[in-house]
This record gives sequence, C-alpha cells and structure tokens, in this order.
Amino acid sequence: MTPVATMPALDPAAEDTWLIDHAVRARLQEVDGRPRTARQITFALQALVIMACIPELGWLPVAMLPSVVVAFLLADRLLGHTRHAEIVYALAWSFTQVMVALTAALTGGPDSPMVMWLGIPIATGVGRFTPRGLAAAVALTAGLLVAATAGVDAQRVADAPFLLAFPLSLVCGIALVGSALMRSEVEHRADAIVDPLTQMLNRKALAARGRELELQSEVSGRPVGVVVGDLDHFKAINDREGHQVGDAVLREIAYRWRTALRAYDLAYRLGGEEFIVLMPGATEAEAQELAEKLREVVRGMPIAGQHVTMSFGVALSGAGGFDLDTQYARADAALYAAKDAGRDRVVVSP
Ligand code: GH3
Ligand code: MG
Ligand code: MG
Repeated sequence: MTPVATMPALDPAAEDTWLIDHAVRARLQEVDGRPRTARQITFALQALVIMACIPELGWLPVAMLPSVVVAFLLADRLLGHTRHAEIVYALAWSFTQVMVALTAALTGGPDSPMVMWLGIPIATGVGRFTPRGLAAAVALTAGLLVAATAGVDAQRVADAPFLLAFPLSLVCGIALVGSALMRSEVEHRADAIVDPLTQMLNRKALAARGRELELQSEVSGRPVGVVVGDLDHFKAINDREGHQVGDAVLREIAYRWRTALRAYDLAYRLGGEEFIVLMPGATEAEAQELAEKLREVVRGMPIAGQHVTMSFGVALSGAGGFDLDTQYARADAALYAAKDAGRDRVVVSP
C-alpha cells in the first residue's frame, strides 16, 4: 500500500534527527503536494487489483485497506500537533508495511503476490527519510519479507529460494536507485541556491527562508532581526585593482562572516556587493551587536592589500509578525542612512 499522508506540519526550526534532517525537510517543503496525485493513483490501482483478485485471494486484502487508510488519516491529524512529524510518519509507514506483510502471510505466504507490494512504500520512503532512516526502513521490510515467506512456510522457501530473493532484490533495487536519484536532486537543489563566488546562499534561498520565517513568527510571535550590509566604495576597488581583486574581496568577506555568525543566523548574498543576514528570535541589541561584529571582521584586517569597510542597516520585526519585504525595506533605508552619515557604520531602523 502506498502511504497517502503528507507531512504538512514540518517545523523548519525543528532539530535534525536520524530520520529527517534539514536537507530532506527543505526539499519536502518545496516539493510537498507534487507527488500526491501519483501516490493517490497508485493507491487506487492497488485497491482495484485487490478487488479484482477477490476470487483468488479472498476478502482479507480488502479488509486490510481501511486499516491503512485509517492509519494515515490518524497520522495526518497527529502531524499538526507534534514537533516530530517524521516519527508519526515513520510509524504510519511501518504500520502499512506490517499490514501488507501480515496480509501476504495470510494469503499464501511465500506464494502470495502481496509480497511484492512491500516494495512500493520504499519508493515513498526514499524522499522522506535520511539515508540512515531509509536503511532502517529497508531492514524492517527485509525482516517482514522473511517473516511473511520463510516464517509461514520455511520448507517452501528452502525449496524455492527465489520466492524470497526476488522481492528482496526488488526492495533493495528501489532503495538504491531511488536514493541515488534523490541525492542528485538534493545536490542540484544546493547548486540552485548557493552563490558560486562566495558559497553563500542566494536570493532564491532567501525567498524560501523568508516564507518559512513568516509562518514561524506568526505561530511563535518571536521577532526576526534583519541585517543588511553593503561594501563601501567597492566600485573604486574594482576600478583601481581590477575585477579579480574585487572577487577576492567578496570571497574573503564571506569567509570571515562565516566564522562570526551563529549557526542559525544565515547569511545571503543579494547580488553585487550587498549581503543580508536573518536572525530569528533576535533582540534589537543582538542584531545591532552582530552587525557591529560583521563590520569589525571586515575592517579589522586588509583584504588583498585593500582596506575594506562596510555599512550596515538593521531592522527588527515587531509583534505583528515578520514580513521579509517590509523588514528588508526598513533595513535598506537604515543602510542608506549609514552611507549618508559617512559609511563604515551601523544604523538601526527607528
Ligand atoms: P557605496 O559605498 O555607495 O556602496 O559605493 P559602491 O562603489 O560600493 O557602490 P556601487 O553600487 O556604485 O558599485 C557597486 C560595484 O560592485 C559595481 C560593480 O562593479 C561591483 N560588483 C558587483 N558585483 C560584483 C562581483 O561579483 N564581482 C566584482 N568584482 N565586483 C562586483
Ligand atoms: Mg557598495
Ligand atoms: Mg550596493
């Protein structure tokens, strides 16, 4: 059976577990809903096959259907109330596998065609679990396969080992091909959101993170600090020293910032020589302090022989929730004030 539930309640701030991590979570957030139709068609197809095979397999497989549907409806309801949606999902997923194995055991064991269906949920597990989580899912499935075949009729499996070997290789094959495809998709995704010059996140990533933080601050009511930084007289450095030196300056700034930022304060290159940092849960003092620190690490030591300085604008969202466009506009106005006031300084939006 194909799990029908989705994971709508993925909390972007939830910590990584061995079942799900940031990469999987971010991907799910983006693609969620897209494979849903495919899953529903697969489920309908399976239901149809079960109905058509009532004369051969009896009513037992039909009886199993509602339990799987109920498990996933229950999971769907629970998902909205837990921080660990992936555990709820994993439980519903495992329950489905147990039900399929049980039905296989009761409809012929090693000779039941249901045995093959243990392979289908592996395809959905591939995109939802980390490699470790997927390995656990494959191990569970392999165990259930052995139980539903050799556990029911060991002699039959000893006489005809292919009855176990075929479904086992199907499960492993789907897991291997599926996770290779997934890895390439995750890497492709990373390419699309990382700026190649500085290795910082880009505008596209900022937009996605902005949406996440908007939802999050609506629920939590916590403010989000926005720090915008822009290099001072960068055009002059480019004109005087050449574009390559300019590029080296941008790279070095990104490097120095990485050492100055906390893990959850993500920095983005907005394009050109302008950067933005989002600080979920920060106070105004903390945001200002970070901007000062980022300014210091740039001006503290020459880069490629150049004395480089930056100006900063800081804004903090209020109780009304966070809106990236609004706060960016405020921080940008503060940045302009910093430029006007002589550059190499931090201005906090009033
Ligand atoms: P201000 O202090 O007012 O910010 O002056 P500025 O010279 O830094 O600002 P301006 O917007 O006039 O110039 C920005 C320059 O940044 C223009 C462009 O040549 C340079 N630049 C933008 N992107 C890159 C890049 O990827 N590499 C290099 N080397 N230079 C870049
Ligand atoms: Mg500039
Ligand atoms: Mg600029």
